[in-house]
Amino acid sequence: MTFPKDPCYICKNPIDTLSLGYVIGHNFAEELVYLSKNKSLEEIVSGKDSLFVNAITMEYFNQFRDFFTPDEDSIDFRDYIAEREVNFRAHKARLSRVISVVENNDDPNELHLFILAHSECAPEQGYSINLDRIDSPQKAIEWTLHLGEKTWFNFDGWYRILGSLFGRTSA
Ligand SMILES: [Zn+2]
Repeated sequence: MTFPKDPCYICKNPIDTLSLGYVIGHNFAEELVYLSKNKSLEEIVSGKDSLFVNAITMEYFNQFRDFFTPDEDSIDFRDYIAEREVNFRAHKARLSRVISVVENNDDPNELHLFILAHSECAPEQGYSINLDRIDSPQKAIEWTLHLGEKTWFNFDGWYRILGSLFGRTSA
């Protein structure tokens, strides 16, 4: 059995050595806001941290659909087009949306993202679980019970992580 099933969310390469990978639960959005205080969005999405930033903003769209999927009535045509182009403008549009959601949200706890990553691809911060501590379904159930009690628990993100670790069955 391949474990984890999915590659690193940041660099997209497999995580071959368990001790060098982890699952992190963290409010990365607040850091994106912090970055944006000193740099333009263009610099952030194309500079040295761009691989990390662009992967994180993409994950926000995957894990927080309620926040980021525009409802039919209020859709902005420019955003709509930008999100569908896999290019610079799309990265910038996503980053801009994440920042505006943080700034308009009263409860920052709601924006904890889960990512699967190599230790060299994502800074260790927030809540991190080394992959060798969650490498069996039994351990994953224990983590699920434990994390499910956290006020910041992000169900959609955790569901995605479990699929990335153990695979999904298409029943
Ligand atoms: Zn990586």
